[in-house]
Amino acid sequence: MKTELLSATAAGIDRAAELLKKGELIGMPTETVYGLAADACNPEAVANIFAAKGRPADNPLIVHIADVEMLSEFAEDIPDMAYRLAEKFWPGPLTMILKKKSCIPMITSGGLDTVGIRMPNHEAALMLIKKSGLPIAAPSGNISGYPSPTKSSHMMRDMNGKIAAIIDGGECSVGVESTVISFENCNTVRILRPGGVTREDLLEVVDNVFIDPAILHELQEGQVVRSPGMKYKHYSPKAHIIMVEGEYSEFCNYVNAHTKEGVYALIFDNDNKNEINVVAFNYGGDSIQQAHNIFSRLREMDSLNADTVYVRAPKADGVGLAVYNRLIRAAGFEVIQV
Ligand code: AMP
Ligand code: MG
Repeated sequence: MKTELLSATAAGIDRAAELLKKGELIGMPTETVYGLAADACNPEAVANIFAAKGRPADNPLIVHIADVEMLSEFAEDIPDMAYRLAEKFWPGPLTMILKKKSCIPMITSGGLDTVGIRMPNHEAALMLIKKSGLPIAAPSGNISGYPSPTKSSHMMRDMNGKIAAIIDGGECSVGVESTVISFENCNTVRILRPGGVTREDLLEVVDNVFIDPAILHELQEGQVVRSPGMKYKHYSPKAHIIMVEGEYSEFCNYVNAHTKEGVYALIFDNDNKNEINVVAFNYGGDSIQQAHNIFSRLREMDSLNADTVYVRAPKADGVGLAVYNRLIRAAGFEVIQV
């Protein structure tokens, strides 16, 4: 199959909508990362998403909608709080786990009776949903386990020849996947995956926000997992990623003592490259920039054939919690304190 690269114009999106309606897969830009889109209610199309990514069948897909009215078409028993959160954060990087209606096939929800729903904040994605008239199931558009795509070229690398088309919507602004929440009771939500909507943001609308322990800690054998995605190795390039946590001078001492060919470092924008003896790349000065750059930088490490990459651990608050969560998984929980 030849994968078409479509522009994010009315004509490009018309073409993508036609393909979606025929059950084809499309690379869809959103503000978080590029998604691998299909009609969420077409089980064969959804099966092709799992096949193209090599995604485990029990890892559910997020369903994307273009207006709040679509929420009650696909979910039921929706708490008032969900509408208040939608009003505040949609369109935007917040996914809410709700009881699913039967029109969402079990394959889409990974066999669960719940479904994650969000409204993306990207003109091309919203137009695609509206023009196709479909709810769109879209996990991140990478090969399972690999860093998520934040540019159309990343998605082309992973999906060329496997899907009908990719819409080129430029670089994703946020750069990490959406915040996934579930509802604990009428005034409490639980963050299952951190993202662009932070705990502090959520606290403007709800009284209590729990952070699921699986966000920062490795699951123990037999531990119950509330979000299947937490079980799997994630976001990892081929290079061996090691997170190093501490002051920059200590980071440099550590890396300089472990210098050999194929070793690289990812550091903050204002860190002084003269202090480090390996080739180092910046990945941002603050949490928002780090979220925007991290997946691209991880992919670049593979283009350079890096063996080992020492990454300066980001601050784990605000959007930084999402960056930390992605990196700790990319590193397979290998964190060195210096
Ligand atoms: P991705 O599609 O790659 O962004 O991953 C979607 C994430 O949302 C995964 O971590 C899933 O486990 C999580 N997710 C999606 N739907 C549900 C659901 N119904 N219940 C719990 N977690 C979900
Ligand atoms: Mg993903």
